[in-house]
Amino acid sequence: MSNPTYSLPLEEAALRDRLRQYKRLIELSRDLALTLNLDTLLRRIINIAVELSEAEAASILLYDESTCHLHFRNSTNFDEQVTNGINVPLEGSIAGWVVTNRQPVIVNDAHNDPRFSGIVEKATNYHTSSLIGIPMIYKDRMLGVLEVVNKTRDTFTTDDVDILMVLAAHGAIAIQNTRLFHQSDLIAELVHELRTPLTSLNAAAYMLEQPEVSAEQRSQLAGTIQKESSRLNDLVSAYLDLARLESGRAVFEPTQFDIGPIIDECIRLVESMAAENEIRLVQELEPNLPMLSADEKKIRQVLLNLISNSVKYNHKGGNVLVRAYTLPEEFIISVEDTGIGISPDARPYVFEKFYRTPEGEKAAPGTGLGLSISRRIVENLGGHIDVASRPGEGSTFSVHLPLR
Ligand code: ADP
Repeated sequence: MSNPTYSLPLEEAALRDRLRQYKRLIELSRDLALTLNLDTLLRRIINIAVELSEAEAASILLYDESTCHLHFRNSTNFDEQVTNGINVPLEGSIAGWVVTNRQPVIVNDAHNDPRFSGIVEKATNYHTSSLIGIPMIYKDRMLGVLEVVNKTRDTFTTDDVDILMVLAAHGAIAIQNTRLFHQSDLIAELVHELRTPLTSLNAAAYMLEQPEVSAEQRSQLAGTIQKESSRLNDLVSAYLDLARLESGRAVFEPTQFDIGPIIDECIRLVESMAAENEIRLVQELEPNLPMLSADEKKIRQVLLNLISNSVKYNHKGGNVLVRAYTLPEEFIISVEDTGIGISPDARPYVFEKFYRTPEGEKAAPGTGLGLSISRRIVENLGGHIDVASRPGEGSTFSVHLPLR
């Protein structure tokens, strides 16, 4: 039988403790609504989770409903470079179980739990003994999983789950808010950008119907329709790419690969465009380059964008030099051209979405999205991209990736 004189103060102490924790949760989660930057927001959520659950570390895995992918996004104990891109399978993982069952889970002996996948442990060398997984749901939509790992004293309890459920609910609203904000911003810009090709298409279609239009004019109008609809197509697919990257839904699948064949392939893809303008493409690879550890398809996308720009914005008879080399901490791929260049005034804006320089607009059609997509990809891989240029003489775009 319990002794009332001792159990009451103990219960009171526990209650007071919980109250203090909930007060702290309210205090901390007030800040969640203050940012519209997804990374900042996710970092705040995991820091609060660590503090409230007295865990060693916390992470967030985002879920993409359209592809059913669950991928590591932020964690308190690893660099983004290490974890970004780790895909966690829905089958055979604790986070996957949380997504499938839409329920929280406490595991106090991870290695003896059949659902534990060990994928993250293998990739990071970080030992997990206990963990809690909490679904992050907004209006029935599964946004991801919040995980806390290794309780620093005792074991995780249902009290920890309760408080983390409240944090995850606040967090899910904040995540959805940042996504909606960026989406509406992006949609407004897209609609604006769609107007020009749509107006040209409309005008060309109208002209085609006029009886006085000659056969030659008709064929020119058909050419315009083809060009503008292909531009519309490019714009929409680039827009979708950017929207995925901006909302954190883009999945990065890192592998180890040689950069050489990727550069060959990109050069081959722009060769006919280059030949039309007598542009010479040359590559120079440092001997014994290490393998790159990144998402191969995304690196190809970045290089194709840079190399095709170096041809598009070049002079007739110009040159393009693609180089790959290493510095002590970096793997660098640069694309240098002898083209129209970028004025110092325009340079800060070329990585902004939909921005095109006045000279670029005159030189070739484009969407103004390629460089912003490239920057997002490279930053997601823990690197950066920069440009040096002399107007009228040429530009060099360099991708810097961390060497691990
Ligand atoms: P797009 O080429 O579709 O317009 P990008 O985002 O790839 O979109 O490039 C944005 C703008 O930056 C281009 O419109 C052009 O004005 C400028 N630009 C990009 N690459 C070069 C280059 N190699 N030389 C000169 N200007 C460039």
